[in-house]
Amino acid sequence: MKLQTKLIHAGQPRPRFAGAVNVPIFQSSTFEYAGEGRYEDIRYIRLNNTPNHIALGKVLAAAEEAEAALVTGSGMAAISAALLTVLKTGDHLLAQECLYGGTHTFITGDLPAFGIGFDFIDAGDPEDWRRKLRPNTKAIYVETMSNPLLQVPDHRKVVEFARAHGLVSMIDNTLASPVNFRPPALGYDLSLHSCTKYLNGHSDIVAGAVIGAASWIERVNRKLIHLGGSLDPHACFLLERGIKTLALRMRQHNENGRRIAEFLHHHPKVERVMYPGLKEHPDHALACALLEGCGGLLSFEIAGGAAAARRFMQRLRLPLCAPSLGGVETLITLPATTSHSGIAPQDRARLGISDGLIRLAAGIEAAEDLIDDLAWALAGL
Ligand code: PLP
Repeated sequence: MKLQTKLIHAGQPRPRFAGAVNVPIFQSSTFEYAGEGRYEDIRYIRLNNTPNHIALGKVLAAAEEAEAALVTGSGMAAISAALLTVLKTGDHLLAQECLYGGTHTFITGDLPAFGIGFDFIDAGDPEDWRRKLRPNTKAIYVETMSNPLLQVPDHRKVVEFARAHGLVSMIDNTLASPVNFRPPALGYDLSLHSCTKYLNGHSDIVAGAVIGAASWIERVNRKLIHLGGSLDPHACFLLERGIKTLALRMRQHNENGRRIAEFLHHHPKVERVMYPGLKEHPDHALACALLEGCGGLLSFEIAGGAAAARRFMQRLRLPLCAPSLGGVETLITLPATTSHSGIAPQDRARLGISDGLIRLAAGIEAAEDLIDDLAWALAGL
């Protein structure tokens, strides 16, 4: 089946519950005991095994051509539970340096308290990975496209490197969604998502997912059960509803991202645009080889730095100034004051996240309307 068909039909119960076309919301914390032998099989919302959880796990696994998947209470619940499953005291992690801010601060601020070491690596330089590899290195962690600079590591090399050195390969695939990239199909062990973004698509829930081999998903599930990061059934229902239109929405996100990046690239007041779909982007060839689209997220700098960026954002009439991405509406932020504010200013500067860097998450409005609004706001500066 093609992906857009799987997104609608995979995981749906047969026969349907009471004939309902959609999986109803099973808003019941506990279920009658039916002789289950293992703790994980007792049906209880925290154990991630209501019919709502099961349907979602199946559709997400099918979407990325993996054996299994589970949903979590947020993207960070997926990321933290997966890292704490793979790593134990005394282990070492190689992690891409420019990561989503929450992941970055979890690695630097929380992993050391568990006695887990880490080194940040330049995801574009396999020699750097080799140099930082240690006998106790257990995993390598990257993002499909980094947030907010949209760097694309060579994922084939990451998977090869992990296999050659017995590491668990982990990837945050939020920015691509299963429509643009399917990491397990390429050989990644664990694919992580903030389903808050494209997978749900409507900016009305927070949710996460972990996708991979059944043996890994079972282990992550046991950890998640202890950490208590399960997704509420009502949020499961909304996520399932969002997933059904993912393929259609991603087509428009991909187009809007590309058209806005091209417009900004040619605008005289714009100094730098980061979007891997632009042929001028350093990772354009990799993006073309690996991804089926570059999504709606892009970042750029305009002449005049942070003060001009703030004035520009205030003038916009369509994009809302709010963190997050992947919803139907276009959002715009300054990562230095939102998603990446937890990273020390000198580290942000070294990573290339200037105070004036603007991140735009294109929604699914008409590209013409968004471009008109951007042009109007730039013209008034
Ligand atoms: N990964 C990426 C790439 C993100 O952009 C985000 C949130 O912005 C997260 C993970 C965390 O997800 P959540 O906010 O659902 O916990």
